[in-house]
Amino acid sequence: MKRFVYADNAGTTPMSKTALDAMLPYLTTEYGNPSGIYSLGRTAKKALETARETVARDLNAEPSEIYFTGGGTEGDNWALRGALELKAKTGKHIIISAVEHHADLHSCEHLKKKYGAEITLLPVDQFGWVNPEDLRAALRDDTILCSVMLANNEIGTIEPIRALAEIAHERGVLFHTDAVQAVGHIPVDVKELGVDMLSLSAHKFCGPKGVGAMFIKKGVNLPPLLDGGGHERGKRSGTENVAGICGLAAALDEAVANMGENMKKVSAMRDKLIENLLQVPRSRLTGDPVNRLPGTASFVFACIEGESIILSLDAVGICASSGSACSSGSLDPSHVLMAIGLPHEVAHGSVRLTLNEMNTMEDVDYILEQLPPIIKRLRSMSPLWEE
Ligand code: PLP
Repeated sequence: MKRFVYADNAGTTPMSKTALDAMLPYLTTEYGNPSGIYSLGRTAKKALETARETVARDLNAEPSEIYFTGGGTEGDNWALRGALELKAKTGKHIIISAVEHHADLHSCEHLKKKYGAEITLLPVDQFGWVNPEDLRAALRDDTILCSVMLANNEIGTIEPIRALAEIAHERGVLFHTDAVQAVGHIPVDVKELGVDMLSLSAHKFCGPKGVGAMFIKKGVNLPPLLDGGGHERGKRSGTENVAGICGLAAALDEAVANMGENMKKVSAMRDKLIENLLQVPRSRLTGDPVNRLPGTASFVFACIEGESIILSLDAVGICASSGSACSSGSLDPSHVLMAIGLPHEVAHGSVRLTLNEMNTMEDVDYILEQLPPIIKRLRSMSPLWEE
């Protein structure tokens, strides 16, 4: 029987009831502008500051180190552009990894073209892992920032952020991490990671879309990305998305409270998918086999197109993706799969199944019932396939 299975939680997540309930008052009766000095405004302001305290507590930061943004892309852009402006006297050299999200990669391309920034891309190994020694070798006297993601959105690999940040700091270089895929899914403690900046996005952990947060360590005087009325202590102007911010904080708090239990449940479902889908001939897991996000099961299947698999899965009610959502629609294989050394013809057959705590073992069983015959059928039509 046809079911509906949502397995694209790295793309976005359904909103939790807790997040929606936290937002509703600020979308209806409590619509005040937090800058208003009358009581309706003060109520909104209080909600905003309570949300900031919650996010700070969940990341082990101070409330004064949390700035609300319009999502992960904005945070990544802010870190890169802000660092270039802040460190103008030191240099223009920025180091990022080859597997960063386009929010980082395309920002760097822009900074290179427009402001003459010099960008070094750190290579990764076959599992997508950045070697801290490669960062050490890439650092220069004019390096101002290193940005490496905490967990990869396509293959789920978790990067050695603490070691990387330590090496950057030995040379006085700022360190930013894009933690969009990690926050709410694995423990994230800014002090333990030792980062100067961290960006996150609510819609990846059952919060609303279009809202995120930036941790900026006390003492790092990052210039604002948006100028205007001086909101967010002058760092990010624009009337605050109060409802979205309350939804973000509620979703994060719920994810952090249930993290141990969720990680156990979600990784058991992931492992069942991996174990069974690796039985498919000429299939391969992408990303680190051990050090990976609890919900990410990512593969390549030789001799077929990932897009065809995704459309066939959609026809039986399964939402999955091939590579990152942002690059779908392009015929180029993903830069992440190229960086881990996959040949073009193999990288084209990528499928990413990403689960969260709202999924069930029945969802996994349904995927396992549907996906292998789809691969078999597509291969039977492929001129590249030989049994
Ligand atoms: N960084 C990573 C690793 C992501 O996976 C995403 C979204 O897919 C982003 C940044 C962008 O976040 P947002 O959609 O909130 O702009």
